[in-house]
Amino acid sequence: MAESIVIIGAGIAGLSTGCYGRMNGYDTHVFEMHNAPGGLCTSWNRNGYVFDGCVHWLLGTKAGTSFNRVWMELGALQGRKVVDHEEFLRVEGPEGKALVLYSDAGRFEEHLKSLSPKDARVIEELTKNIRRFGKLDPPIDKPGGLEGFSMLFKMAPMMMGFKKWAKTSLQDYSRNFTDPFLRSIFPLTFDVLKFPVLGMISTLGWMNERNAGYPIGGSLEMAKAIEKRYLDLGGEISYRSRVEKILVEDGKATGVRLADGTEHKADIVVSAADGHATIFDMLDGAFINDTIRGYYRNMPLFPPIIQVSLGVKRDLSPEPHSVSFPLEYPVRIAGRSISRMSYKHFCYDPTMAPAGKSVITTIIETDYEYWKALHDDEEMYREEKERVGSIFTAEMEKRFPGIREDIETVDVATPVTYVRYTGNWKGSFEGWLLTTENSTLMIKGMPNTLPGLENFYMAGQWIKPGGGLPPSALSGRETVQAICKKYGSKFQADMP
Ligand SMILES: Cc1cc2nc3c(=O)[nH]c(=O)nc-3n(C[C@H](O)[C@H](O)[C@H](O)COP(=O)(O)OP(=O)(O)OC[C@H]3O[C@@H](n4cnc5c(N)ncnc54)[C@H](O)[C@@H]3O)c2cc1C
Repeated sequence: MAESIVIIGAGIAGLSTGCYGRMNGYDTHVFEMHNAPGGLCTSWNRNGYVFDGCVHWLLGTKAGTSFNRVWMELGALQGRKVVDHEEFLRVEGPEGKALVLYSDAGRFEEHLKSLSPKDARVIEELTKNIRRFGKLDPPIDKPGGLEGFSMLFKMAPMMMGFKKWAKTSLQDYSRNFTDPFLRSIFPLTFDVLKFPVLGMISTLGWMNERNAGYPIGGSLEMAKAIEKRYLDLGGEISYRSRVEKILVEDGKATGVRLADGTEHKADIVVSAADGHATIFDMLDGAFINDTIRGYYRNMPLFPPIIQVSLGVKRDLSPEPHSVSFPLEYPVRIAGRSISRMSYKHFCYDPTMAPAGKSVITTIIETDYEYWKALHDDEEMYREEKERVGSIFTAEMEKRFPGIREDIETVDVATPVTYVRYTGNWKGSFEGWLLTTENSTLMIKGMPNTLPGLENFYMAGQWIKPGGGLPPSALSGRETVQAICKKYGSKFQADMP
């Protein structure tokens, strides 16, 4: 019978593993290299402003749904206000005409029809699927026996229908519209090559059900709430503790060695840290097969990003909160020509800026190797960050004349920042990119164990293609379920 678990990483997956481990009576110890919980789920204070680096929407904010149960078990949402946005995103075309992704499916349908009445049939099919998908709430505890069979029977036809959407990219899908504006603007809504329509349908489906809101307080507050739950359950956590190696004896994981040379033994090791570092550095690539090697060689990653954050002494709350817009002239950032940008303001969350002031952020896809090389020269790295900050400022000045004078703080995070603070491979901010080619892997899942290594599990975004907070939290729960199953004990979970 195993009694102790060592967990690598205090991101959402590591904290979740710790919480469920404690709920099931295991001694748990989390080792985190940074000095705070959350990993990618974080925010930072600058000059009276809070710049959030993660959550824009969270699946599971509707009471009674499966993921809501997970967040409640983890103590993440208790007492937290949630904002359900009326619009998810506004995508502007070259002449200022905009496609608005309204959260309400009925309003979205009306809006699409007003843009192109002759595409009514395609539009109705799309919004019908958005409504249907939003209602799908796959159970997190798969029922066995007759109950499980009847559930599968009910869900199967729906899942078959959705498979088609998982294999169709937004680019291909947009050809169903006859209207040239819809055809050109649709692929820009989730501006990722080969992004499956299912990704859009599911996001808007959950928004329509008001099950994908924004938790007031943002990312770090949510991570701290889960950390509190873990500590209240009696879990142990050590910060500034980088794990260098996973200790292995006779094909069994037996503990970890930290960068300071100390060793910590346990019956089970769970890595909720970066997948590549876990497999190839902490375990020296000794436990792998062709399938896993293939993932790390061939599967695309969420592209690294630059986040520019501005603190401005101006109230932007009457403005749409999330807008993608074409640039008047393309700009060059990190060796790439950029012809479109986006911005978000956080005025719906009063904890992000003092009254009457606002935070504006943008995220720009970029090249990891460029920033990594530049980082070797401190001066050039700093200058390039400043240049990117001023490019975004100039674009905001065009949109909100005079805003340049109101800017009190500029902050630029590059892929190097993401690697420094979270260790994620090549700065990927959500692990494996969701594409039409791997979307079924998202449904089937990736293995959370490694061949030839016992008493070891992986949790987090690197075993959940598409990444995101809910899959990371769920993976911690599933890991402890697997441990309980292995040792013949009944999995327990409760809410604080
Ligand atoms: C800009 C941005 C926007 C996002 N928006 C959303 C959103 O709106 N909704 C959503 O659901 N998701 C969103 N995400 C994705 C989400 O943040 C991630 O998928 C999720 O937080 C991953 O959690 P994780 O625990 O798997 O990994 P991580 O957060 O990467 O946690 C891993 C932890 O392990 C630690 N670690 C690494 N190596 C070691 C080591 N050797 N020793 C000790 N500790 C180590 C790291 O410091 C880190 O704390 C967004 C992410 C970003 C960056």
